[in-house]
Order: sequence, then C-alpha cells, then structure tokens
Amino acid sequence: MDTRNSPWITEDLVIFQDAIRRFVARELVPNEERWAKQQQVDREAWLKAGEVGMLCPSIPEEYGGGGGTFAHDAIITLEQTRAGTASLGTNVHSGIVAHYLLRYATEEQKQRWLPKMARGELIGAIAMSEPGAGSDLQAIKMRAVRDGDHYVLNGSKTFITNGILADLILVVAKTDPAKGSKGTSIVVLETAQAEGFRRGRNLEKIGLKGNDTAELFFDDVRVPCENLLGPEEGKGFVQLMQQLPQERMIIALGALATMERALEETIAYVRDRKVFGQSLLDLQNTRFRLAECKTVATIARTFVDDCMQKVLRGELDPETAAMAKWWSTQRSCEVVDECLQLHGGYGYMMEYPIARLYLNARVSKIFGGSNEIMKELVARTL
Ligand SMILES: Cc1cc2nc3c(=O)[nH]c(=O)nc-3n(C[C@H](O)[C@H](O)[C@H](O)COP(=O)(O)OP(=O)(O)OC[C@H]3O[C@@H](n4cnc5c(N)ncnc54)[C@H](O)[C@@H]3O)c2cc1C
Repeated sequence: MDTRNSPWITEDLVIFQDAIRRFVARELVPNEERWAKQQQVDREAWLKAGEVGMLCPSIPEEYGGGGGTFAHDAIITLEQTRAGTASLGTNVHSGIVAHYLLRYATEEQKQRWLPKMARGELIGAIAMSEPGAGSDLQAIKMRAVRDGDHYVLNGSKTFITNGILADLILVVAKTDPAKGSKGTSIVVLETAQAEGFRRGRNLEKIGLKGNDTAELFFDDVRVPCENLLGPEEGKGFVQLMQQLPQERMIIALGALATMERALEETIAYVRDRKVFGQSLLDLQNTRFRLAECKTVATIARTFVDDCMQKVLRGELDPETAAMAKWWSTQRSCEVVDECLQLHGGYGYMMEYPIARLYLNARVSKIFGGSNEIMKELVARTL
C-alpha cells in the first residue's frame, strides 16, 4: 500500500512526495524527541519548512504558495504521519488557516499574510473551542463587540493547536449573541499587535507531544474591523461549515497513514521476534490479526482515495467527509491497538514507533469534531 498507487497521484506529486519525505527524515524526525520534551517545535523548523515549499503548497503562487492542490496538503499529512512526526502543525497552518484566508480575506490581507505564512514567518492557528464549548460551538461565549473601527474581543479559548507559537489566529466569536449561529463571526488576530491577549498554559497531552496546544485569553483586545473574515458579520458558521470537510479529510488521511505505518512496523517486528522456537509471524493468531488489519487498511485506502478524488473535483459533501473522518479514525485506533499488542511489552516502550503511533492516534477520534458529532452529521442525512 502506497500513495504512489493512488488514482489521484500524478508524476509531479511523486516528485513532491520524495522531496517532503527527505525533508521530514532530515529535519523533523531527528528532532521529534527533543520537541516532545519541550512541547513545541523550534521556530526555525517553520522557516526551514517554508524554504522547501512544505508550507501552503495549495495556495496560489501569487500569494507565495506552491500553486498546487489539496493533493499537496494530503501528501504532507501522509508523509509526516508515516514518519511518526506530528510536531510541526502544518495541517492547521496550511491545510486550514491559509484556506480561510484565501477564501474570505481581502486582497490586501492575502498579500500581507499568505506569503509570510508560506515562508514560515507567520504561524497560523484557529480558535473555535472554549472551556465550556467544544462540540456545541453555538454555545461559545467569546464576544467581539464593535467599537468605532475596531472589534473588542473578550473571552477565552482552549485546546488551540499551534497556540503557543501562533502569530495569526482565526478567532471564532459572537458579534451578535441574540442571533445564535447567525451572530457568529471569525476575526483574525495578529498577535504581534494585540494588547490584552495572553497565552495560557502549553497543555500537556498524552500524545502529539511536540505540537503546542494552548489556552488563550482575551481581555479587551482591539482588532481592526477589516480583520473580520467577511464580507459581513454573522458569516462565521457558514465559513466553518464550508471549511470543516477539508479539515476532516486531513484527519482521515492521518488515520490512514497511521494504519499503514503501524502495519509495516508490526509485520517487520513479528517476522523477527522468536517465541516458542518460531517466528511470531508463524502463529496463526498473528497471521489472522494482521490479515484483518491489512484488510481494514486496504478498505480505508480505497475509501480515502475515493474521497480525495471527490475533493479534487470539488465534489466532497460534508456527510461523506464526516464518514471518512469517523470511520478512518475509529479503525485506525483499533488497528494500532492490535499492532501494539503484537509487540508485547516492547509496544509499550517509547523507543518503538508503535508506541508513539498509538498515543498520537487517540485524539483523532476527538478533534476536528468528535466522532459522535460526525455520526450526527451523517444521521441527519438518513
Ligand atoms: C490535541 C487537541 C487539539 C485541538 N486543536 C484544536 C484547535 O486547533 N482549535 C480548536 O478550536 N479546537 C481544537 N481542539 C478541540 C476539539 O475540537 C474539541 O476537543 C472537540 O471538538 C470536542 O469538544 P470538547 O472537548 O469540548 O468535548 P465535549 O463537546 O464536551 O464532548 C464530550 C463528549 O461528549 C460527546 N458529545 C458531545 N455532544 C454530543 C452529541 N450531541 N451527541 C453525542 N455525543 C456528544 C463528544 O463526542 C465527546 O465524546 C483540539 C483538541 C485536542 C485534544
């Protein structure tokens, strides 16, 4: 199983994939453990990623991006996950934040922000979740109150990926609480000029340890009105609904790569490991377990490939993206658990890649909209 056999892959993408694979092996993998300890990557890693075209690959060249498609973002997710390096938060930065700006920012803002994001000089984050509102985003309390030519932001956010390092944060806020979802807007905060903005703890997680995840606090933070992702107030929910399917596909791709890497690792391990005078792979239980895992990974590859073709044709609907997200992540956690079991005690040791895959995979059933919420989205179409 390899992306090279996928129907959406092209010769250009194979060249891109080779370059990304080399960069990941050279610049990310050797630092992973250190970043896990410090709970964030070095800022320099973002600049290096920018130099090799790993940031904003699907943003048009006129805005400093790579001029590619979502397939380029997909390759990056697949390669980083496959290599067991999830610390550099490219999925949120390039796959999500840059696309909100491309679609909803003004021409002047795109020129101002996107080239710097592509170079890794500005790091992006999106702040939807709050301590009291995750799945139920309509319950957010963050306020953006208009005062002259500024919005004044008050409230707090939590679990924000890239939150410690971010320079540009898409803040989901209520501009008119009386209007419910129609009173929700997205405002872009430039952290360099944000008096009253404060980062809280870099949250300690059980996995994805090298990727910073932060609490954010806003106390009368003034943001120019032109930083509203427009054209007008109240469009925040529509914008989220339009962009979330892409985020869900990124998570499904990560789940797929996790399964494939877990299988690769485990097949090699059980072939070498001797138990009761024979290879662990010779036991029927091992063979059947791995046969099941390989079948699941093959079905996941087929489904995700089909979704990828739909994304690239602009035809992926939200419920299919939700199906891909919940099903792939659920199966990925099951496959990784089986694979870890076949490693015995070594599977529980961080020096074996399966341990990190296991820890990193768990959150995929929770973030990007929990799997229960995904099933709600699918159920609404019954
Ligand atoms: C590592 C990490 C990174 C994250 N990054 C970001 C980020 O960058 N930006 C951001 O905004 N957020 C981020 N999040 C937040 C994430 O999106 C939320 O955690 C997620 O949406 C769930 O919200 P919650 O944690 O408040 O759980 P809750 O909404 O409290 O849910 C708790 C449980 O109840 C279930 N549940 C809730 N509603 C229903 C329902 N209607 N039917 C059935 N079950 C239900 C949920 O599925 C879950 O199992 C991140 C989270 C993590 C852990």
